[in-house]
Amino acid sequence: MRYVVIGNPIAHSKSPQIHAAFAAQFALAGFGYERLLAPLEDFDGTVRRFMAEGGRGCNVTVPFKEAAYELATHLTERAAAAGAVNTLKVQEDGTLLGDNTDGAGLVADLLRHTSLAGKRVLVLGAGGAARGVLLPLAGQQPAAILLANRTAAKAVDLAAQLQAHTKNVPLRGCGFAGIEGAFDVVINATSASLGGERVPLPARVFASGALAYDMMYGKGETAFLAQAREAGVTQRVDGLGMLVGQAAEAFRLWTGHTPDVTPVLEMMRAGLAA
Ligand code: NDP
Repeated sequence: MRYVVIGNPIAHSKSPQIHAAFAAQFALAGFGYERLLAPLEDFDGTVRRFMAEGGRGCNVTVPFKEAAYELATHLTERAAAAGAVNTLKVQEDGTLLGDNTDGAGLVADLLRHTSLAGKRVLVLGAGGAARGVLLPLAGQQPAAILLANRTAAKAVDLAAQLQAHTKNVPLRGCGFAGIEGAFDVVINATSASLGGERVPLPARVFASGALAYDMMYGKGETAFLAQAREAGVTQRVDGLGMLVGQAAEAFRLWTGHTPDVTPVLEMMRAGLAA
């Protein structure tokens, strides 16, 4: 049972630790999970060689999620909607199933802290991560979702593309300057925090009792969560739980076992703090 996470770069990936902890929960003998660096121009060849050597599945990370989407023989509905694949499974007949578990990971983590039904949700960013989470968020029946991006046209286009699939949850796209009103849940899916930058948000964007969620995670407080703290938001959550949650969904797809996320998240949190 050989699995890998493929990316470029890949040395930083925490996925091997997470999957080893999941496998230990079920005493899965023979479960192996490693990092695999793919050359930028040879993602497909890297996957095919891995499959030829008996590989059973891969997680896919930056910058190959779109390439994995193209390579997959079959797609789950959520991967088709996301236009990106973060999990590949080699099926009995040798074909490749592509899934996207990022949204399920985010939703599971959010639900640990708040309900989403009837809430006003603001998603910042319209890149790969935002694309993967919009429909899973809509599946929780929030009152409405506003998608705001630095490049307004990308948010407007993405919202228009996905609106037909949101099960009647209103989804609108705009630029940061177009954000109006207060939101119960504000999710940062931009990569601004990676560079320590803040997102230009209007005053009073956080409703009373709001939850701020940054998909980024790291040793200290992220720029976005610092911004939320200064705006008086008390519920602030980083993306480590999303990372563990998306891995749990991949593990379930591959092995049929549903791991207990909580102890693994605690272990990873302790590792970050050390
Ligand atoms: P992409 O490169 O696909 O998209 C980046 C997005 O961020 C774009 O919308 C871009 O806007 C916006 N952006 C970049 N810089 C800034 C800035 N300085 N100010 C405002 N907006 C900015 O990245 P991804 O969608 O793949 O990843 C986004 C974030 O989500 C990353 O921090 C990543 O680490 C995190 N992530 C976390 C996961 C987890 O499991 N916790 C899983 C996946 C992603 P524009 O269109 O205008 O360029």
